[in-house]
Parts: sequence; C-alpha cells; structure tokens
Amino acid sequence: MAITNNRLTKEQYEQNFSDIRPPFENKTAAVVEANRCLFCYDAPCTKSCPTSINIPKFIKQISTDNVKGSAHTIFISNIMGAGCSKVCPVEKLCEGACVYNLLEEEPIQIARLQQYSTMKALQENWQLFERKPANGKKVAIVGAGPAGLSCAHVLAREGVEATIYEKEEKGGGLMTYGIAAYKVTPQFCEDEVNYITSIGGIEIKYNQELGKNLSLSDLQQNYDAIYLGIGVGVARQLDIPGEDLLGVVDAIKFIYELRDKGYSAIPIGDKVAVIGMGMTAIDAATQAKRLGAKEVTMIYRRTQEEMPCTEYELNIAKLDGCEIIWLAAPKEVKGVNGKVTQLVCHVMKLGEPDISGRRSPVDTGETITLDVDMVIKAAGQVPFEDLVKGSSLDNKNGKIVIDNNSATNIQGVFAGGDAVNGGKEVVDAVQAGKDGAAAILRYLKLF
Ligand code: SF4
Repeated sequence: MAITNNRLTKEQYEQNFSDIRPPFENKTAAVVEANRCLFCYDAPCTKSCPTSINIPKFIKQISTDNVKGSAHTIFISNIMGAGCSKVCPVEKLCEGACVYNLLEEEPIQIARLQQYSTMKALQENWQLFERKPANGKKVAIVGAGPAGLSCAHVLAREGVEATIYEKEEKGGGLMTYGIAAYKVTPQFCEDEVNYITSIGGIEIKYNQELGKNLSLSDLQQNYDAIYLGIGVGVARQLDIPGEDLLGVVDAIKFIYELRDKGYSAIPIGDKVAVIGMGMTAIDAATQAKRLGAKEVTMIYRRTQEEMPCTEYELNIAKLDGCEIIWLAAPKEVKGVNGKVTQLVCHVMKLGEPDISGRRSPVDTGETITLDVDMVIKAAGQVPFEDLVKGSSLDNKNGKIVIDNNSATNIQGVFAGGDAVNGGKEVVDAVQAGKDGAAAILRYLKLF
C-alpha cells in the first residue's frame, strides 16, 4: 500500500472530474423542460428555497425565451444563483418540494434551468442591476465567502462602498476552497466573484486576516459598520491515538489542495477511510476514488436514517464505488514507521435520542479493524474559536451570537453565515448576507 500522486492519465482526471450537473445541450432542451412546469400558485419550490427565489417566474421567463429577465429574477434573490445551481442539495430543497414528486414523476430540473440563465449572464457579463448614487457610507466586510459577497452586493446596489477583507488569495470562501471540483471548478468560482463585484462599489482586499494583520478596532474606526462573514475553520479533531501519523489528513485541507494544486499533484492512498457522512465527507470520499484510490470506505457512527448528507449525495458515493460502514466510530489509527496502516473502530448501536433529536450512538464494546494507508477526517468543522473567544464578541462555543437583526453585542458590528450557525449550505449563507445587509442599511438609516 502506498500514498502516491499522479495515479491517472490527464484524460482520466478530466473524465472523473467533469461537471456532475451538466448544462442543457441547447435552448430547445431548456424550453421543453421549462414548459413542464405547472407554475404552481403557492410554489412549494420557492418556499423551500432559503433565498426565496421566485422559481415559477424565472422558469416562465425561460419558456418565453426571456433569459435576461430570468437571470434577473434569480439574482435579485440570490446573487450566487449560478454557484448555487451547481452545489445546492436541491433534492432536499426546491426540487425535493416540487409537486411532481407527489405525482410520482421526475421533479422539474430547477437547478439546471437556473444554471441555464445564470451561466449566460456570467459568460456575457450582463449587468442587470444599477447602483444607486454613492451615499458616502462605508462598510467593512470580513470574509469574501457567500455571506460576505451577498452582503456586499446588496449594499453596493444601495450606494454603499463595501470593502471586503479576505484572508485567502481568492474570493468565494467555501465555494472556492471547500467543494468538490466536479461540482464547481476554480475558474467558475473566480468568474462568479468577478461577476458579483462587477457592479462596482465593492473592493476585495486579499491576504487580510482578522486577528493577524487586521483588527476589529481598526475597522470600527474607519467604517460606518462592519459585517463578519468569517465562516468556520479547521476540521474537527478526532482526539484518538495515531491522529498525527503520516496519512491522516483533514477533509477540507484535502479538498482545498486538490482545487489549489491540481488533480495529479495530490497524493492519495490505495485504501482510504473517510470519517463522517456529511457533504464534505462525501466530497472527500468521491474525490479520493476519482483520484485513483483503489478502495474508499466511509465510516459513520450512526445509521443511514441519521446521516447528514442527502440520499442523492450518498448515491454519488455509492456509484463511485465507495463502501459504507454504518455504526462505527474511530478508536485508534495504527501505523508502522510513522505511516498509517490500520484504522480501528468501535462498533456502535443506537441508543436514546440526543438534543438533536437523533438517536445517539452507543459503544457496544466490540471493535473492527480496517487495513488502510490513508484516513481523511470529515467529522465536521469547528468555528474560529480562538479568534472569536479572544475578542469581545458574545459567542456560544466559538459561534458568534447575533440577535434577530443580525447584530452582535458590539454596536455597528453585524454577523452571519457559518460563523454564526456553525456551518450550513452555501444558499443559507447567501440569505444570511442579505439579512445582514438589510440590517446594516436600517442601522445606517438608508432604508
Ligand atoms: Fe414548477 Fe415544480 Fe415549482 Fe410547481 S413546484 S412551480 S411544477 S417547479
């Protein structure tokens, strides 16, 4: 067993990482699909979209070949509508709510229709919004992820100057650095950030990290308000023996490097274990397989009924040939000469429900041992605890506490997205950014 890179040919990498949600072949295909829509009066699809996109309206606009109007309908609710059309778990959101499911027919392909018009908007740089004249107000936003970008776009539309401080070299946050490459390419992410900022009035300053070369007090002195969209940080540690062996990696770091350095540069084991069953775990497992790992086994301490990922995501992993072991929790990583050779797991059973309402896993006292040479940890991410706890921001276990007006305990400082909720979907962060912008506009008396 060995961990090596460059396992596949260029063609194989390209095939394995091609777009999982491909666009419609042509206009006719999109219009035919749009014409299936029943344009429901109460639109359950819209109700289940966290950003409340008027779905029947944009579909109707596609059916009448008003693609520009359709893109506007999407972007007015969700400026990351293009990215969301590629990464949203639509099976549990809009498409899952489509009335066709009740008729036991395939739901409308809302995501692909959304992609149809928004990608055209990006490719042709359609400017669909006009900025109000500058009103002299300046807002600092920390984090160029979905929450920060969405907040900035709303503020820019209202004539506010928004300056985003981003710790990485590129914008997009989790979209750019934490999502499987077969869902969104790094180039697409860059294009989307450029499209959002092309409205004007938004400047992104890169390599600026709160707590390092950027301080909250400096921002307070120089801006009329601040929005914190700092997201969540590193992968949760397993706190088990052997976690520091060569071959144990964090899922987010693994995904980040894959996107940053390219497929052939990323070393992958022959036999890989992935700990967790969330979306990040699925992304890590499927990409490990697509990089050429011979065996990938996902380990989850509960059962399929309690898993955080969707059925659709689980099926992607299964179709990629990933094995799943339910009711197993990591106990110890064993190694030889400092390198991973085995993963020992507790065998679990389900006990009483915990505070999340899900039945909690209980150790049976038995163990199983897997021969592996790589372990990818995807058991969730933790907030930037040191940063938040080291500030005067109210927090709960490192998550920033806000009121129902997106305001923190510090006057003029607002927050939203993963830094507040601990990690949800991209589309939830977009809505949080909109809520934050609305609160800031009220605070600045611009509404
Ligand atoms: Fe169209 Fe389905 Fe939404 Fe009804 S629920 S408006 S059919 S997409």
